Amino acid sequence: MTASRVLVLNSGSSSLKYQLLDMSRPSPATTLNGAATPHGDDSGSRLASGIVERIGEEGSVADHSEALGVVSKELRARGLGLDSPELAAVGHRVVHGGSRFTEPTLITDEVVAEIEKLVPLAPLHNPANVTGIKVARELRPDLPQVAVFDTAFHATMPEAAARYAIDRATADRYGVRRYGFHGTSHAYVSRATAKLLGKEPSEVNVVVLHLGNGASASAVRGGVCVDTSMGLTPLEGLVMGTRSGDIDPAVIFHLSRVGAMDVDEIDDLLNKRSGLVGLCGDNDMREIGRRMAERDASAQLAFDIYVHRLRKYVGAYSAVLGRVDAIAFTAGVGENSAAVREAALRGLEPLGIEIDAVRNAVRGTVARVVSTETSRVAVAVVPTDEELEIAQQAYSLVRP
Ligand code: AMP
Repeated sequence: MTASRVLVLNSGSSSLKYQLLDMSRPSPATTLNGAATPHGDDSGSRLASGIVERIGEEGSVADHSEALGVVSKELRARGLGLDSPELAAVGHRVVHGGSRFTEPTLITDEVVAEIEKLVPLAPLHNPANVTGIKVARELRPDLPQVAVFDTAFHATMPEAAARYAIDRATADRYGVRRYGFHGTSHAYVSRATAKLLGKEPSEVNVVVLHLGNGASASAVRGGVCVDTSMGLTPLEGLVMGTRSGDIDPAVIFHLSRVGAMDVDEIDDLLNKRSGLVGLCGDNDMREIGRRMAERDASAQLAFDIYVHRLRKYVGAYSAVLGRVDAIAFTAGVGENSAAVREAALRGLEPLGIEIDAVRNAVRGTVARVVSTETSRVAVAVVPTDEELEIAQQAYSLVRP
């Protein structure tokens, strides 16, 4: 028997998300689309998934070690125990790989130490990711553990896109450059979009719009990322649920000097009290839609600002790519909000983008094209699957 299961762990500060996948079976997406796969790996069928929440809170599990114990118990009850010889690897989502990690990486003590060194770049995420790695290594020290980085897919960005126009010595000393995030999703969705069009990833140029609570855009040329909207941290770029996205950096000096706010307050403002929630009090696009239907002016303005930013990035990345074959919408808002898709692309026929109102309005859970037959640029809705991508990348390192 070959070990073919991969446990994917996404460890947050107070939660542990998991999925167990069997890589010897095809992924459901492949089965649904039927046809032979035009590219890489399409294996990975989900055996179990879940989340342990409120870690560390009173009356809940004490820490991540106990949380993994809960996961282990849940899986054992279903005959999928983590002590099974069928488990081939654990794949860990790690948010920041800095300049050091640009590929899925087999975890060693040295790798853990390097990920810890990157904590200043992702103070909220990397410590939790490291905790997840440590408890999983304690549980199964014999098992290969693989780190898959959210930044990795963007490592191919050319210097012209990755470098900020600030003093080079200062930037280099402090690692200040654009890293990008959501890379696992951008990688998965750009490939799935090529497949939806019946093409190889190397044959198509795709603008991927990952619109969840966090949101980012990427320009992917022939399967290779050439630009993305998030930067040193996930704060840059699109308007998000609670983050401002792009602002003039001088806003920070102004708030410091004139508003007497300290750096932590401004950090909190821009990351947690801005974006949709800052503009209208809600960060859920469903609620904003409901309020817009009742002619709520602040919800409408929040929507308009969100969409305006999105359109700017579609235009910018069309120019970066020169030829665009597809625009792919993904994540919570991208997959579900026909209104956002329509508003973002309305009136872009001169750029060869023709969204089909009827197709766009149909709800669905599989990858689909929502542009007209005559649209030069395909507009697609492509559900993301970061866990599957992590499992495939992890398995590719340990596969016999
Ligand atoms: P994610 O981070 O990908 O889980 O996306 C979460 C966000 O997706 C939520 O905050 C909502 O704004 C949005 N969302 C989820 N479902 C819908 C829906 N049916 N219509 C519009 N937006 C949705």
